[in-house]
Amino acid sequence: MTTETITHSAEETIAYGRMLAAELSPPLLVLLRGDLGAGKTTLVKGIAEGFQAACAEDVTSPTFTLVHEYRSPRATLYHIDLYRIETQREFDTLALDDLIGSDSILLIEWGEKFPRLQRERDIEITLERVGETGRRIQRINR
Ligand code: ADP
Ligand code: MG
Repeated sequence: MTTETITHSAEETIAYGRMLAAELSPPLLVLLRGDLGAGKTTLVKGIAEGFQAACAEDVTSPTFTLVHEYRSPRATLYHIDLYRIETQREFDTLALDDLIGSDSILLIEWGEKFPRLQRERDIEITLERVGETGRRIQRINR
């Protein structure tokens, strides 16, 4: 199933994430695709808000920390950014398998670099710029 929407501001993308959260239940592996600045992290702000796991301002990019964790009664969210991960060895060191559990939702930026994640993902969300502040958000469910 594929759905598509267009947002016109970061705030609208956050609102879309909040709405999307209502449709997500663990366990899930979600790949977030799109260029730098496409809005992947912005979308996670909304998803975390939807789960009441964090407020938008507290969700920041895990580019350097690699994994951020947000807990809620409904799920534990792991926001992961693999932009800087280049080798299979570095990837293995992250031990993402240890994060996969019955109440976990993994939200992974740049996960498509690793074929295993591409194979195992449940949902893929692709963000694409449309002009300055427009973003096309396409969601594919397995
Ligand atoms: P990514 O994680 O994909 O690299 P970020 O979410 O960190 O991207 O950054 C997206 C940037 O684009 C933010 O500065 C955000 O304010 C801006 N922006 C402008 N319009 C939108 C929109 N419609 N949706 C999401 N972000 C937007
Ligand atoms: Mg990001």
